[in-house]
Amino acid sequence: MPSVIDAQTTHRSTSQHVSEEDLKTCVSCGLCLNDCPTYRVLEDEADSPRGRIQLIRALVATDARPDASLVSHLDACLVCRACETACPSGVPFGRIMEGAREVVRERAPRGGLGGRAMAAGLATVSRPGRVGLATLLGAAYVRSGMQSLVRRLHLLPSRLAAMDRLLSAPEGRPFTPLAKPGGDLALFAGCVMRTAFGETHRATVRVLEREGRSITAPTTQVCCGALHVHAGDGEHARDLARANIEAFGDGDTPIVVNAAGCGAHLKAYGHALANDGAWAERAHAFAARVRDVSEVASPSAPARPLPREVRVVYQDACHLAHGQQIRRQPRALLQSIAGVTLAPIQDAERCCGSAGVYNLTHPEIADELQRQKVAAILAASPDIVVSANPGCILQLRAGIAEAGATVPVVHLMRFLDDPRACLAE
Ligand code: SF4
Ligand code: SF4
Repeated sequence: MPSVIDAQTTHRSTSQHVSEEDLKTCVSCGLCLNDCPTYRVLEDEADSPRGRIQLIRALVATDARPDASLVSHLDACLVCRACETACPSGVPFGRIMEGAREVVRERAPRGGLGGRAMAAGLATVSRPGRVGLATLLGAAYVRSGMQSLVRRLHLLPSRLAAMDRLLSAPEGRPFTPLAKPGGDLALFAGCVMRTAFGETHRATVRVLEREGRSITAPTTQVCCGALHVHAGDGEHARDLARANIEAFGDGDTPIVVNAAGCGAHLKAYGHALANDGAWAERAHAFAARVRDVSEVASPSAPARPLPREVRVVYQDACHLAHGQQIRRQPRALLQSIAGVTLAPIQDAERCCGSAGVYNLTHPEIADELQRQKVAAILAASPDIVVSANPGCILQLRAGIAEAGATVPVVHLMRFLDDPRACLAE
């Protein structure tokens, strides 16, 4: 075991961001190791859940600035939370890691180009106008043919090339939230989702309206803050949480989410603001209203039935399967469509390497996980791949294209809305 782990000294936590009680839940049994994607790729104890918890214990045992090695092992975590599913002791690894990253950010702020790029990215997703502008510029870059030229000539350095690989034209026009008096479900629109996945939102509304539901979407809602909290920017993430609580109001209308990463974080608002006297109760009540759309939608026939038998691979998004324990509902919705056969894949719950911006910050590990996932998917010979998280969809589209295959990858709600159209993509 590397010396960086042996450096732990005491279990007394000096941080308000990492709970001593949470850390105590890990009994170092190691049963999570083989389910950890980074441990499987890197084969280093310090890149396993157990190793990282040891490092976090060492981190919070003093007020010292963490060394670069410790920071790099924590940074290399996908926060996929597969270790939570594997752990028999109920270790809340996601919130431990998020708290640890906030500690690291406070004591060792990230500088240089990478730090500035991350700060600019987080500031962009916080403001719908900026995300909209960035999406428009990205779309112009793709549609003008510039992207093809840049790729052919290999003009981009590796980090930007990793970003470019995921860039595709947005799905139709952006989604514009509209408050509807008397709506019985409130749609969470997100940041990138509302600009780059407008058609997925419109499909979500259509599917729910076909079931007789009335959908409202508060106009002042903002980014959920998940990317911020994963980057250790807890303060900004809490600001966004307060803004969303205010935007959705204090009623009991369920808040429906169609992006797994956003949903998992919105369900954690109660924890995020637990120490904020003025907001703790409201945050707890807000979190209790949040539902993934697959928890709300009922199996029903699509407007246009499938013309033939179709093999579907359902890709479990980590923040749906591990983060929200939602596995059965999306599959039940898919199986309710006549003609659908679900094709199982190997290591179905292993991360595809997307994990927020991980495929941009750690392209080598992300590429390996993407390659493994795409190989497992293609081995199942699917006609289409369905997922419930935008990051997974972009990651799988890029990986499948690079493997030379032409299998469409779509969001669950678009498939439920119009499976025929999805097959033609
Ligand atoms: S969250 Fe994922 S990558 Fe991080 S330690 Fe747990 S299983 Fe490994
Ligand atoms: S996180 Fe859970 S499974 Fe992993 S070492 Fe700790 S107690 Fe064991």
